[in-house]
Amino acid sequence: MDTLLLKGKPVSDSIRLALEPRVQSLKEIGIIPKLAAVIVGDDPASQVYVRNKARAFENLQCESDTHRLDTDITVEEVLTLLDTLNNDAAVHGILVQLPLPTQLDSKTILHAVSPKKDVDGFHPENLGLLLEGNPNFIPCTPYGVLEILKYYEIPVSGRHAVIVGRSNIVGKPMFALLAQKFEMGNATVTICHTGTKDLAAHTERADIIIAAAGAPNMITGNMIKEGVDIIDVGINRVEDDSEKGYTLVGDVNRESVMGIANSVTPVPGGVGPMTITMLLVNTVNSAEKCRKLIACH
Ligand code: NAD
Repeated sequence: MDTLLLKGKPVSDSIRLALEPRVQSLKEIGIIPKLAAVIVGDDPASQVYVRNKARAFENLQCESDTHRLDTDITVEEVLTLLDTLNNDAAVHGILVQLPLPTQLDSKTILHAVSPKKDVDGFHPENLGLLLEGNPNFIPCTPYGVLEILKYYEIPVSGRHAVIVGRSNIVGKPMFALLAQKFEMGNATVTICHTGTKDLAAHTERADIIIAAAGAPNMITGNMIKEGVDIIDVGINRVEDDSEKGYTLVGDVNRESVMGIANSVTPVPGGVGPMTITMLLVNTVNSAEKCRKLIACH
């Protein structure tokens, strides 16, 4: 069987292209979609993510402000900044880059982002609406996975999807989406995690595998059935003696699934490019909601 590589770039490009006229028509009435990113400390990977996000906003002629805070900042100071951003009418999306330093309780901080500007979709109100089947903001990575499935016309309804990972930002919202009775859902969903006794017993029954464990090369060819569609969300740095000192690999051992799987997303270049694109989508959606409010006055 030829295994199709589900690259993220064409999906991402087509979504960004469709956003351009929407941004233009907002601009005509004086609204520029704007993201405020909050980053605490100097974690190098987080700095790169935030820089890439800012560049993506600029490329789409949207705005983004990055608020860089010292590692030893207090919760109260972060909450004061979030309060200002929540009340700033020019800001349509607020993102708090994770992970936060250990002295800051991430729940307290994420809960302080206004659900109306929570473009990451991590606020409990938005997670609740997602579970209810009435999403306000869909968390960007699972949203990107859905868009890949849609673009490559991978059937979902009636199939058995196995998700590996139960984090609040990937595994759980992915479950809520795939199990939902809607166009891109309606699957039978199994969710596996560190408490799962025999992971292979589940993955080998899957029609779709969503690997989001952060465990390099964990899913191998002998754990899957022929014809499965695999979405590899994992991004893992494996140290080696290359010039960079590491190689990025997914949770799926790609070589071993080639020829058995129907399709697989590459790492890098699969789900990765989608996450920032869906952040743009959520922020433009938020700005459009703001336009509707203006129109009502
Ligand atoms: P996390 O550490 O919060 O959660 C990992 C989950 O996987 C946990 O629920 C854990 O129970 C489960 N798990 C870990 N090892 C396992 C194992 N051996 N068997 C079964 N379950 C196991 O991670 P996360 O934030 O959800 O991210 C998961 C991966 O996805 C990471 O590699 C991360 O870098 C990547 N990621 C990629 C993007 C993207 O844009 N492509 C976005 C977010 C996360």
